[in-house]
Amino acid sequence: MGKIVRMNSADGFLLASAIDSTDIAAEAARIHNTSPTASAALGRALSLASLFGKTLKVQGGSVTLQFKGGGPGGSLIAVSDNDGNVRGYIQHPNVDVPRKPNGKLDVGGLIGGEGNLTVIKDLRMETPYIGTVGLLSGEIAEDLAAYFAESEQVPTACAAGVLINPDGTVSCSGAYMIQLMPGYGAEKVDKLERQILQAGNVTDMLRDGLGPEEILRKVVADEELIVIEELDVQYKCYCSRDRVESALVSIGAEEIESLITEQGMAEVTCQFCDKVYNFTLDELNEILEIARNK
Ligand SMILES: [Zn+2]
Repeated sequence: MGKIVRMNSADGFLLASAIDSTDIAAEAARIHNTSPTASAALGRALSLASLFGKTLKVQGGSVTLQFKGGGPGGSLIAVSDNDGNVRGYIQHPNVDVPRKPNGKLDVGGLIGGEGNLTVIKDLRMETPYIGTVGLLSGEIAEDLAAYFAESEQVPTACAAGVLINPDGTVSCSGAYMIQLMPGYGAEKVDKLERQILQAGNVTDMLRDGLGPEEILRKVVADEELIVIEELDVQYKCYCSRDRVESALVSIGAEEIESLITEQGMAEVTCQFCDKVYNFTLDELNEILEIARNK
């Protein structure tokens, strides 16, 4: 289980949330058998997607973060439901890149900085809201911060970090997000930025034993913060046989016919959780019938 804590300043102009996503990042790494840098990239994106998803006020809503930076890892997708439960994948999970000169995992090098971050917010309306910003670095957190500033006009500080053990497993993972509402004193912004720098990075704080609430109290040291909500979140996929069947129907009769003649069966793997769904020839014929009658 991951743990989210959401806090507001007493005056309500500063909204902050943080997550200990160690279990989520570990689960994602296990499912996708990721390289160390890919584990870090996925962990960062899932952590922030979870915090973002929890801000959606629509039951059944979701947010999708899609990083396409032209790097060797390919595109990275992270999806959160409105309760902060997440799933995701990276296109080339086994690819790794050399560490940076300072010894840190080069997430920006894996994702690439030549491309876009696309955010799809499904708020159960007729069409989803889609916003796109150019990537700054592919390091994930600052790219998402740029999205909030440019597309939603909300000054936002995002930080995310994943520490990888020497054996390649996830040691700890976490993130925080601080958003300033209109009315937050402009004179306080510089001070907040200094505090964020002073607080250091998320993985150091997690390694020092700080939980999400303590991380926020350290990062936003000068404000009186009130806990709004604490909740458990997890890596959660919503795939089902019904959904896979509908997806097969939607590829169209022609494609299904070629599946039948060329393979005589179908094996569909969920990109998010690696679950395999098998369809026999008889089942494919039934699906073909449904597709033809659409
Ligand atoms: Zn799945």
